[in-house]
Amino acid sequence: MKTRIISPQKTIALVAHDHKKDELIIWVKKHKEILSQHRLIATGTTGKLIEQELNVEVIRVLSGPLGGDQQLGALIATHEIDIVIFFWDPMEAQPHDSDVKAFLRLCVVWNVPIANNSSTADFILSSPFMSTEYPAEITDYSNYLNRNIKGI
Ligand code: PGA
Repeated sequence: MKTRIISPQKTIALVAHDHKKDELIIWVKKHKEILSQHRLIATGTTGKLIEQELNVEVIRVLSGPLGGDQQLGALIATHEIDIVIFFWDPMEAQPHDSDVKAFLRLCVVWNVPIANNSSTADFILSSPFMSTEYPAEITDYSNYLNRNIKGI
């Protein structure tokens, strides 16, 4: 097991599907003070809305259906995102469902805290680890990968 030290100032990724954007904005407004102490990154439309509503700086990648989820996934794999708040729509299929699934999978692979609803997001933001270092354990998959490679 390896450990990745997450610093006190976190990089928080925020994404909301269209029917969940209102809910995310309400949540973001509720937590404006704490969120403004961290670095925020978001998919295109979500990021624009957060910037408009809160007047805080948000790094924006592409819109989700245009590759934004994949961009965030790549940043998860290179340890550049510490926390994910992703309000995905449980009632409607998305054109980029395969990207959403890949992104959620990478959050598990790299043991990144992820909230998919507002109550989990509240719990994460009220954690004492929000203002301290946190040693995140990362599963070592190298044996598993080597086994697969040998099997080719
Ligand atoms: P959006 O993308 O913020 O650009 O709407 C979100 C998504 O659908 O993944």
